[in-house]
Amino acid sequence: MHILVRCPKCDVGLPVRGDKAPAAIACGRCGRNIVLTFSGAVRADQSVDICPVCTGADFYARRDFDPTIGLTIVVIGAIVSGSFYAFGRDLIAYSILAGAVLIDLLVYWQLKDVTVCYRCHTEFRGVYERTALAFDLNTADVLEREYARRTGKQ
Ligand SMILES: [Zn+2]
Ligand SMILES: [Zn+2]
Repeated sequence: MHILVRCPKCDVGLPVRGDKAPAAIACGRCGRNIVLTFSGAVRADQSVDICPVCTGADFYARRDFDPTIGLTIVVIGAIVSGSFYAFGRDLIAYSILAGAVLIDLLVYWQLKDVTVCYRCHTEFRGVYERTALAFDLNTADVLEREYARRTGKQ
């Protein structure tokens, strides 16, 4: 399992491998020492049960989608389609734009879910069984505040 640890102090993402399971890592940006507690399931890439960073057990799943890539495809599509439109080839212009949106959708649906910790926003990628539910704003609100109090960020 690949884990993107969120530094509790400066929010930078620090990649860690579950099978290596280091007991602690130092943040490359702010130097903060982050203690990691790996559960057996996380280490073996079976499931995400306990967050190694904050030891919380509340996660949500979201599509592992980089919005900038999706936007780039649509923007390129719009530019190409715009140039056809300028020459009065409306049908071609619309088809290209529709094609770009379609490619975006295809890319989106082929992506696997990534599991994210509600409290510390650490991300988990791997072949493990997905059990987390979709993002819930109320849960996020409560748990993020709790975590912020605990880390003294507020
Ligand atoms: Zn940091
Ligand atoms: Zn966490």
